[in-house]
Amino acid sequence: MAISNSHALLLVSPGMGHIIPALELAKRLVSHKIISKVTCLCGSIKTSTPSNVETQVLQSAINENLFDLIQLPPIDLNNLHIKTKIATIMHEIPKLFVSTISIMNLNPTVIITDFFFSQVIPLIDEKLKLSMPKFAFAPTNAWLVALGLHSPTLGKQIQGEYINPISIPGCKSVEPHDLFDMLNDKTNRLYHEFVEACQGAALANGIFVNTFHELEPKTLEALGCGHITKVPVYPVGPIVRQISPSPGPNPRSDVVEWLEKQEEESVVYVSLGSGYTMSHEEIKEMALGLELSGTKFVWSVRPPVTKAGNDHYLTAGEESEIGTTLVSSNFEPSNSFPDEFYRIQTNGFVITDWAPQLDILKHPSIGGFVTHCGWNSVIESVSCGVPIIGWPIFADQKMNATMLAEEVGNGIRVEVSPSTKMVGREGLAKAIKKMMDKDDIEGCVMRERAKKLKVLAERAWSSDGSSYLSLSKITHSNGVW
Ligand code: UDP
Repeated sequence: MAISNSHALLLVSPGMGHIIPALELAKRLVSHKIISKVTCLCGSIKTSTPSNVETQVLQSAINENLFDLIQLPPIDLNNLHIKTKIATIMHEIPKLFVSTISIMNLNPTVIITDFFFSQVIPLIDEKLKLSMPKFAFAPTNAWLVALGLHSPTLGKQIQGEYINPISIPGCKSVEPHDLFDMLNDKTNRLYHEFVEACQGAALANGIFVNTFHELEPKTLEALGCGHITKVPVYPVGPIVRQISPSPGPNPRSDVVEWLEKQEEESVVYVSLGSGYTMSHEEIKEMALGLELSGTKFVWSVRPPVTKAGNDHYLTAGEESEIGTTLVSSNFEPSNSFPDEFYRIQTNGFVITDWAPQLDILKHPSIGGFVTHCGWNSVIESVSCGVPIIGWPIFADQKMNATMLAEEVGNGIRVEVSPSTKMVGREGLAKAIKKMMDKDDIEGCVMRERAKKLKVLAERAWSSDGSSYLSLSKITHSNGVW
C-alpha cells in the first residue's frame, strides 16, 4: 500500500527511449499503489517543428490522469554535434530540475531521476538541502549499470583507451568493440558527464533497473554482493507500455490488418529505433537481405540520408519529408529510396514514420525482430516472446546484442562485413533464415527461449512476481515514501 501523501518527483530525459519507460514507471508506481502521487518533470529541447510522436506519447499518458507533468525550460541545441548535444543536456537538465523545484511549491517526499541525470542527486543535497530518499531509474539493462558504476574505478585503473576486455567484478567482461559509446573516448565531454552521472547514482538510496531477475541473474547477483556498489539495485522490469500510442490517421489498424492475413510466426519485424536514420546504401543492403531471406516483413524505416547517423535521436517523431503517412506496398515511389526498396514491397508492409511497435510485436504473425537492440525494443520483444536478430549500431546497443546472443539465448547478432564495415545482405538473410526456419535447430532453441522469457516477464510483474515485490520492498524498507 502507498504511504498516504507520498509524492515522487520524476526527472524525465528527452529521447523516446527514455520518455516511454519513465512515463510507464510513473503510471505503475501510482496504479499499483506503491506511491500516491507522481509529478514528472520532463527535460525538453528547442525545436522548430515539435515532435508529433512525443506530444502524442505525453498526451496519452496525461489523459490517463495518473500523474502530473511539468515541462522544464527547453534547451537550445541548435547546430551541435549529437555527442555535444547529449553532453549538454546531461549537464543542463539537472540544474534546470533543481532550479524549477526550488521555485515551485511541490513538496516531494521522494526524488527519482533518470540514471543518466544522476548528477542531480548531489546537486539536490547541495543546493536544496532536501533530505528525502533519492533513486535513479536506469532504462537500460543491469550490465550497463554495473559497467557505469564501475567506470570511475576503471578510469583510474586503465589509462588511455580500452583495448583489452574490460572486467567488471562478477559480470561478463565487455569487449572494447562493444563498449558503451559514452565511455569510448576519455577526452570527450560526454565521457565525463556519464561518469559524473554514475558517481551521482552511487549516492542514491537505490537504483531501479528496467530488467528482471530471470533475464540477468548473474549480473544482478554481482550488483547485490557489494563489490561494484554499496547501493541497492532493484530490478523493476519489464516496464513496457500496454499499447502503442500512434500519431496520424490510425496507422495501427492498417499494419495489424495486414498482419492478420499472414501465417503465424511467418513475418519478421524490422526497425532500427527512434533515432537512427539509414543511408541509401544501408537501405539497399537491408532490402536485398530481406529479399534474399524470402521472409515476409514489416519494415519501419525513415527516408535515407546521405550519411547515416543518430542525429534524429533527440527529436524522433518530428515531421519527415514524407510526413506521418503510412506507406503500404502499393505506394507511389519517391526518388529518395533506392530501387531495391520498391522492388521488394510486394512481400511486406513498409512504414516510413512512427510504427505502432508494441501492437506489431504482440501480433501472432510476428516470428522475429530485426532490431538495433535499443533496450526498450529488447525488453518489449522479450515481453512479447519474439526472438531477436540484433543489428546494433551505437550507444549501449552492441552490449545489449552481445548479452542476448551470449547470455540470454533469445537472439543472434548480424555479422558486419569486415571490408565494408556494414551489415551485408548475405549476413542479414542468413540470420533471418536461422531465426525463422522451423527446421533450424539453433533457431528452434532461441525461439523456445524467447517464449519461456515471455512467461517469466509476465510473472515478474504479477502480484508475487520478482519485480513487483522488489519495488514494493523499497516502500517498506524506506518507510518514508
Ligand atoms: N518506437 C515506436 N515506434 C517506432 C520507433 C520506436 O513505438 O517507430 C518505440 C519503441 O517501441 C521503444 C522506443 O520507441 O519503446 C525506442 O526505444 P529504444 O530503447 O528501443 O531505442 P531508441 O529509439 O532510444 O534508440
